[in-house]
Amino acid sequence: MIEHAAIQRYREHYRATEIPHGYRPLGHLLFTFGGGLLAFATCLWLVDGLRPVELLAVPAAFLYANFAEYVGHRWPMHRPFRGLGLIYKRHAGQHHRFFTDQAMPFDGLRDLRAVLFPPSLVLFFFGGFGIPAWWALDYFFGSNVAWLFIATAIAYYLNYEFLHTAYHLPAAHSIARIPLVRRLKWLHQTHHDPRQMAHANFNISYPLGDWLCGTLRRRPLAGAEQRPATQATGEKASR
Ligand SMILES: [Zn+2]
Ligand SMILES: [Zn+2]
Repeated sequence: MIEHAAIQRYREHYRATEIPHGYRPLGHLLFTFGGGLLAFATCLWLVDGLRPVELLAVPAAFLYANFAEYVGHRWPMHRPFRGLGLIYKRHAGQHHRFFTDQAMPFDGLRDLRAVLFPPSLVLFFFGGFGIPAWWALDYFFGSNVAWLFIATAIAYYLNYEFLHTAYHLPAAHSIARIPLVRRLKWLHQTHHDPRQMAHANFNISYPLGDWLCGTLRRRPLAGAEQRPATQATGEKASR
């Protein structure tokens, strides 16, 4: 078990070494949600003369995104792969040391650096995977399918960032108390148990991939619930 004092020490170390002096958490939020909504609206605006059958791109993109979330989190984020070391370091090495199942909430807005994807990785993923996907779908199915697919992928990503940020809010925050957020948070909190993180609950939003692959764990391991929540860092902050 990682003790409270060790987590607090790690958080201080992370803030001192990983959060740039000029980091602006509101700018990070604006880039993620403002920029994301703008890109989402632009994709929908480019849809023209939609035929009903083309709407199948929406569930297809949802399933693809859920699968990508599962695969990306289960492997590159929790196993070191050549060329993807930064993703592994940020997630397994930093996010999981900053937050454990007994220390879920962040202490202040600057800690969003440890929660939200950095803009460089967002651009890398959407540029590296989104552009080829758009091109292939446009070639085979037409531009409406391509734009709807990308729009749904962006909406899925925004929903993912919203939910993941909500899981790391203090439990008393009004967003954290939304019933669906509480139910899904429980799964992610179980994933943050250091004994479970490489084995269970890799979907961060909706646990479809976990259910299909047999890695869904609804109950914490024995003993996890006996660790007093008051040991958690940050319980009293940011409310
Ligand atoms: Zn998390
Ligand atoms: Zn993880």
